[in-house]
Amino acid sequence: MIPFNEAFELIMQDIPLMGVERINFSISLGRVLRQDVISDLDMPPFDKSAMDGYACRMQDIDKTLKVIEVIPAGKIPERFVSERECSKIMTGAIVPGGADCVMKVEDTEVPEEGYVRYTGHATRSNIARKGEDVKTGAVVLRDGLQIQPQHIAVMASVGCVEPFVSKMVRVGVLSTGDEIVEPERKPGPSQIRNSNGYQLFAQIMRSSAEPVYYGIAEDSAAATREIIEKAMDECDVVLLTGGVSMGDFDFIPGVLDDLGTEILFKTVAIQPGKPTVFCKMNDKRIFGLPGNPVSSFNTFEIFVRPLIMKMMGWNGSFPTYRLPMGKKYRRKKSHRMSWMPVMIGGDGKVYPMEYHGSAHIHALSDAHGMIALPVGATELKEGEMVNVRPI
Ligand code: AMP
Ligand code: MG
Repeated sequence: MIPFNEAFELIMQDIPLMGVERINFSISLGRVLRQDVISDLDMPPFDKSAMDGYACRMQDIDKTLKVIEVIPAGKIPERFVSERECSKIMTGAIVPGGADCVMKVEDTEVPEEGYVRYTGHATRSNIARKGEDVKTGAVVLRDGLQIQPQHIAVMASVGCVEPFVSKMVRVGVLSTGDEIVEPERKPGPSQIRNSNGYQLFAQIMRSSAEPVYYGIAEDSAAATREIIEKAMDECDVVLLTGGVSMGDFDFIPGVLDDLGTEILFKTVAIQPGKPTVFCKMNDKRIFGLPGNPVSSFNTFEIFVRPLIMKMMGWNGSFPTYRLPMGKKYRRKKSHRMSWMPVMIGGDGKVYPMEYHGSAHIHALSDAHGMIALPVGATELKEGEMVNVRPI
C-alpha cells in the first residue's frame, strides 16, 4: 500500500500528450486550448460612446448646444463637432471628431427643436478609448486553458473561429462482476445494477474527454482479458471497475499482469478507494478502480481526472475553497487519507455527508465537494478551516 502523494506522482509521471485538432470555436466549450489566441484588432476598435446621449466638447456643457447630426451604432459620423455644437449619439457608436465627452440623455433637456442643454453639473467623458481594453497583437487567451463560455466570447471578438484544441482523450469504461446487470433490468435477488459504469461515463464527459462504453465483463480471466485488450487497442485510457479487491473472483490485477502492462501500484492508503490499480503500457494508461460506487467516484476525481486533463495539455489546477466546518467530525482509524464528500450549507459552512460506507452512492447526491483528511488526523473541530474541492 502506498501513500496518496506517491500514487499521484506515479500517475502524473511521463504523461503522454494528446495531438491537436482544429474545431469551430462555437463548439469548443470544455476543450483545452492548444495555442495562444492573439487579438487581430484594437478593442474597442474606435473611440466608442458608452452612453446614449450627446457628444460635445466638455468645455461647452454649460451652454445650449445645436444638434448637428444623429449617430446610430454602426454608422460613421460625418460631422465634426465645433463650439456650441453636439451630435446625438447611441451607445456603441463612434464618437465624432471634435467631441471629448458624451452627456447622458437622462441629464439633458430640449429648450427648442434642434437644441439641447445639459442639466447636470459635471460629466465623465463616457467614451471608451480605442485600444483601451486590448491592443492589436496582444495575447488574449493562453495555451493550456480549459475553454469556458467567456473564452468563447473572447475568441469571437478577435475572429479566432478555428482554434487549435487538444484531441479528446478516449476513455474506455468496463464494469466487471457476475452480479452486475444493466440499469434497464430489475436485478434478481443476488444482483445489483451497474451504477459505476454510467457514473464514470458521465465523469469522463464532464472532463471533456470521450467515453467509450464496453459493458459488463463476467468474472473470468478470459472474458475480462479479451475486452481489456480491445479497449486498450481503441482507447488512450481504460477504466475498469470492480474485480480489484482480494476476493476469489477479483481477476483484474492478474489479467493486467498477463497482458504485460507495467503495474505501478495495486493499493493506495486512501479511504475510500484503497484497492486502486494503476498500470501503463506504452502510451496507454489503465486504472482498475474499486467496485464500490463512492470509491469509484472518488478515485476518478482524485486520480483519473487530473491525468486526463494533463494529457490534453491543460496547465491549470483544480480550485479549492477554504471554508469553516459547520460541525465536528471524528473518525476512529486514521492510517489512510480520507476523502470525504461534503455539502456546503446555506451558512457557507462545510458539512460531511451522512455516509454509511463506500457503497452508499446516495451520500454523494447532495455533495458539493470533497475534503481530504490526512493520515494521522482523526478529528475536525467545528469552525476549523478546511479546503473544499468542488465536484
Ligand atoms: P469488487 O471490487 O468487484 O469486489 O466490488 C466491490 C463492490 O462493488 C461489490 O459490492 C460490487 O457488487 C460492487 N460493484 C462492483 N461493480 C459495480 C458496478 N459496476 N456498479 C455498482 N456496484 C458495483
Ligand atoms: Mg466483483
